[in-house]
Amino acid sequence: MNSKYTKLETLGRNHGALDFPSVNVPLYRASTLVFDTLEEFEQAEKLKHKHHCYGRHGNPTTQALADTICELEGADETILAASGLAAIAIALMAFSKQGSHVLICDAVYGPTRDFCENELKKYGVEVTYFAPDIGAEISELIQENTSLIFLESPGSLTFEMQDISAVAKAAHENKFDSDITVIADNTWATPLYFQPFEHGVDVSIHAVTKYIGGHSDLLLGSISAKNKHIKVIRKTSKSLGGKVGSDDCYLALRGLRTMALRMEYHQKSTMKVINWLQQQDEIEKIFYPALESDPGYEIWKKHMTGAAGLFAVQLSHVSKDQLAAFLDGLKYFGMGFSWGGFESLVIPYKPAAARSASKDKWGKDDQLLRINIGLEDTDDLINDIKEGFKRMKNV
Ligand SMILES: *Cc1c(COP(=O)(O)O)cnc(C)c1O
Repeated sequence: MNSKYTKLETLGRNHGALDFPSVNVPLYRASTLVFDTLEEFEQAEKLKHKHHCYGRHGNPTTQALADTICELEGADETILAASGLAAIAIALMAFSKQGSHVLICDAVYGPTRDFCENELKKYGVEVTYFAPDIGAEISELIQENTSLIFLESPGSLTFEMQDISAVAKAAHENKFDSDITVIADNTWATPLYFQPFEHGVDVSIHAVTKYIGGHSDLLLGSISAKNKHIKVIRKTSKSLGGKVGSDDCYLALRGLRTMALRMEYHQKSTMKVINWLQQQDEIEKIFYPALESDPGYEIWKKHMTGAAGLFAVQLSHVSKDQLAAFLDGLKYFGMGFSWGGFESLVIPYKPAAARSASKDKWGKDDQLLRINIGLEDTDDLINDIKEGFKRMKNV
């Protein structure tokens, strides 16, 4: 079974089903499991990470989703977390300790940065942010106590591609000959469009909340790794006591079945919207690595086999009133965080405040909009934006 399209439809279907041949995995809800014999009890404890001995560790429904993501990612094991952010927190904690040093890409998701600032630093971990375009020069920032490097390519706010292969190579061949774990948040590319382990990534994270779920009705995260790294992740995840709900996992599996189709539509529609936006005077710049003029295009082409429907535009000098006039009247673009669902979304922001290592790139007042292209008709979306630009002009 080679095609990911086939995998999406066939994996994780009948995990632990009773004597009932349904296509889909049954929905188990359980805190407690009971065993009839001492032998079964002891066996369950021994194999507890797979054949669960207590509800918090999972059940066949949650395992079906974990195993499916694992197979799509090309990992040895996948551990689920309550949200994308919980997955990130677990991975960062698993590979750092008091006195260690972590290297974090400047373009990471805001709450990832907050976790480093608020939690890791509290436990005596040294945090350095690096510019997204650093590539092999990351070796200059590697210290004897560097324990991990965290990437998010492209960044989900400002869309800089990172040369993950070059960074991973520098990490794994570092001058101290030490173990540095390369962690990447691969949410944008989905498990369909990027194969993290073929590019030197050690731990791959997804906010399942986004395209995998795909319907804006659940929050989940995944952490995938090869055997070398999975043990410590499992231990940290267990110590923290998080668990995932069976219903959410069931919904995520249902979302997965149509992910390939949705992604194809998202990227086709996004390209059409972007081609139109490029002709508009209101737009100063577009940030989307699948666009040939984007500085990340070459890396995107080399690393990924497709693109998501999430990008940003910079508006040419607009006042607050003009921005409000544009946003307030939009019919199809809801103003909301998150992305990857069926519905189009937009958020306004100024990136300068959220950056340190790549601050020079952004003017203090640069006004960006992050746009998530949903599954609505593309022309309706273009017309919605067109009407918004008219309102903006009339202010
Ligand atoms: C949304 C998002 C997360 C966090 O996912 P939640 O499930 O909302 O916690 C992590 N990384 C990226 C890139 C995201 O866009």
